[in-house]
Amino acid sequence: MRKIAVIGAGIGGLAAAHTLNQLSQENDELDVYLFEAADRLGGKIMSERKNGFLCEYGPNSLLDNRPAAMGLCEELGLKDKVLRSNDSARKRFILSKNKLHQLPEGPGSFFGTGLMSISGKLRIIAEIWQAKGDPEKDETIQEFARRRLGDEAYNMLLDPMITGIFAGDPTRMSLKTCFPRIHELEMQYGGLIKAMFKLMWEKKKRGEKSGGPAGPSGSIVAFNEGLQEIIDLLAEELKDITHLNTRITSIKKGGIGYSLTIEKVGSAAEEVLFDKVVICTPTHVMPMMLKDLSEKIACELGKIPYAPVAVVALGYDKKEMKHPLDGFGFLIPGKEKRDILGCLWTSSIFAHRAPDGKALLRLMIGGMRSPELALVSEAELVDIARREVKITMGIDATPVFSNVYKHETAIIQFHVGHEAISNRIKDELKKFPGLEIGCNSFGGIGIDGAVKASIDAAKACIGVE
Ligand SMILES: Cc1cc2nc3c(=O)[nH]c(=O)nc-3n(C[C@H](O)[C@H](O)[C@H](O)COP(=O)(O)OP(=O)(O)OC[C@H]3O[C@@H](n4cnc5c(N)ncnc54)[C@H](O)[C@@H]3O)c2cc1C
Repeated sequence: MRKIAVIGAGIGGLAAAHTLNQLSQENDELDVYLFEAADRLGGKIMSERKNGFLCEYGPNSLLDNRPAAMGLCEELGLKDKVLRSNDSARKRFILSKNKLHQLPEGPGSFFGTGLMSISGKLRIIAEIWQAKGDPEKDETIQEFARRRLGDEAYNMLLDPMITGIFAGDPTRMSLKTCFPRIHELEMQYGGLIKAMFKLMWEKKKRGEKSGGPAGPSGSIVAFNEGLQEIIDLLAEELKDITHLNTRITSIKKGGIGYSLTIEKVGSAAEEVLFDKVVICTPTHVMPMMLKDLSEKIACELGKIPYAPVAVVALGYDKKEMKHPLDGFGFLIPGKEKRDILGCLWTSSIFAHRAPDGKALLRLMIGGMRSPELALVSEAELVDIARREVKITMGIDATPVFSNVYKHETAIIQFHVGHEAISNRIKDELKKFPGLEIGCNSFGGIGIDGAVKASIDAAKACIGVE
């Protein structure tokens, strides 16, 4: 019997444990344990219905073209329960000089948009003539965007987009690690416009529809009661192997595998031997856990930063709002110097988010742009959100509902040098067979990245392809 510990029960750890649990049904040689420090499963995923409003602690949606996360939903029988975003959610906006501009959805609206000057638009088109970059260089997103698309496109499009996805700083983030596909497209086709036409042509030949330039390809999806629906099904499936309120504080070599120090709330710490270990905690807690095993791995992991984010939900009476909320919401370029990163019009994106006659907004505050703001008091965060909603959207009604979630370590940041750090960790990990790291540590942002890396780690630890 091989005894396997999965540490951390966010979506990554749950996906790893689910994979091992399934494999153990084919192979009764596997004895799987899932350890979670908190008193609930799901990590950053938690959906709560408060006063009829659906509040998401962390993530609020998935992209339906991401195979790992959608594959997991399908295995859980959630395929028919997928809630598609409303059609109008294709309309995304960028704030410029206190005015919301819709992001172009096609060539016609690209030329018509007031978001950029004529010269800025022509500079984007000139991307087609830009020379290919150095394939070996680990470039920042800012360097890449300025080189290929120009300063204005960087300021008005890329900078807010990076904030929307990573709450990150594009002057430090690595293009290769954050957007490996974009790097590949430049290398393969010589540029983004060339790649876009080539891929559109290939899709057309296959008879497929392509996503518009404004949004990511693929559709945004969730579930009626939020992403919590995924967690609830995994929690039920894995209840016999789950250990809540149980923190792993140290991993050392022991027996033919590893000795884990297990601290369960209300019990004395104990050392227990496992043959295999899959670590699915956030990266920032790994150095403490691994320092007795490998100073080198702990030191490299300790170099990977996180951005803090606060999520403020505001609920309104629709008739008081005087705003149509017709779309997905908006992001804000850094040069606008606002105190929010963006605002999602949650109840316009998905059904079942607010009671009848009410609307729900979700504002993101902090990130690498203004980390200190993410950590101010809840009352101050609500004040900031209300002030910004008034300035950016002209809504000065009193909200009928508010809710705040604060994340000191919200989203992992893949800065330039991340690939080299990851490679050094992976090389060092080879000295420790049967010990694997899942989740977002090595790249692959978001739920899909965490699920894919964790399933791969679970399989690798028992030598399954
Ligand atoms: C505000 C916000 C919005 C986001 N929006 C999106 C989105 O819309 N779409 C998307 O795809 N992604 C989004 N993300 C990112 C997404 O939430 C993460 O990529 C994903 O949830 C990470 O899952 P995980 O399992 O790797 O980590 P986590 O969810 O952090 O889970 C790790 C678990 O490990 C446990 N743990 C920690 N230390 C120990 C220990 N020593 N022993 C045992 N257990 C331990 C923790 O308690 C936790 O439960 C968002 C994140 C945030 C914060």
